Amino acid sequence: MLSAVTVSKETIEFRDSPAPTLQPGHALVRVHNVTLCGTDLHIWEDDYPTDLPLIQGHEFSGIVEALAPEDAHHFSVGSRVSVNPIIFCGKCRPCLTGRYNVCQNVGCLGCYSDGALTELISVPLDKLCPVPDELPLDIAAMGEPASIAMQAVNRGRPQAGETALVLGSGPIGLLATLYLAELGVTVVCADTEQHRLDLAVEFGATETLLVTPGTDFPDTHQGPRLAALTDGYGPQLVIEATGVPSSLENAIRLVASAGRIVQVGISPRQANVSMKDIPYKELDIMGSRMSLNLIPDGLALLARHPGQARALMTHRFAFADLQQAFRLMQGRTEKIGKILIGMPAGTTA
Ligand SMILES: [Zn+2]
Ligand SMILES: [Zn+2]
Repeated sequence: MLSAVTVSKETIEFRDSPAPTLQPGHALVRVHNVTLCGTDLHIWEDDYPTDLPLIQGHEFSGIVEALAPEDAHHFSVGSRVSVNPIIFCGKCRPCLTGRYNVCQNVGCLGCYSDGALTELISVPLDKLCPVPDELPLDIAAMGEPASIAMQAVNRGRPQAGETALVLGSGPIGLLATLYLAELGVTVVCADTEQHRLDLAVEFGATETLLVTPGTDFPDTHQGPRLAALTDGYGPQLVIEATGVPSSLENAIRLVASAGRIVQVGISPRQANVSMKDIPYKELDIMGSRMSLNLIPDGLALLARHPGQARALMTHRFAFADLQQAFRLMQGRTEKIGKILIGMPAGTTA
């Protein structure tokens, strides 16, 4: 079988190897669809704390090809599945307190160990998530990013009737918007790209604010609009989904007193935040990482909103053209939502 191995910075080699053998407690999954995210781009650019060579791919769907008969309780040969890529030890304090997404020894298929950009992958049974019948298998590859967005929203403890500001209308910001709107929250989206804000409206945003880097945010027109939506108090919840330092600074400045901020965007850069606003407003500032078993919920969210899910998937490449997919992401010359890699087995249904 063929695997795409990222061997060094921006270099992929397709290597032939024997298929994995079936182990107890595992299933062999024929990979059909893989979607790429910013983490994948960083790994491909060798700008990520992982060792190359590596088979990437952590957002994926496929069909169970083999599992031991004694393991065929919830899944059988032919089951359509998405996969939770998180690997955790189950023994450390975060794991023992139910927070395995921040395990001391946390790993992730396709990020720290070999992932799904291969034809057949061996997956522990407890990582398999059934794909709802009505959800196409290509869209199901996005169960993982949908779960990340839902984790961020859940961390923020939203209440129906509140107003949330979502900073960044990339896939995570858009999926968070979709979920917040479902929960009865009024969502204001901000981004530097108008085409992403147009999409945010389709995902349920009530108001959109175009951010012009290097100028005041919100500007003199946007400030009153944000104030009007929040009775002058500011949003009760801010989801920061860009990883841009100035965006966290904006979040702390704009959030209401007694408000909550969830940082889901990741960056190694330093933010310059006010030490006064946090205590004066008595803010709750929370991080959000991957998700706590929310991939089934993510798949259900996508299934409830097929039009939005489809709109998110803007590009499609064949497995053999993986290198071009990364080049496209790197170039940022096109309007990109999610990029799908159709594997050789690749059914979308
Ligand atoms: Zn991802
Ligand atoms: Zn652990």
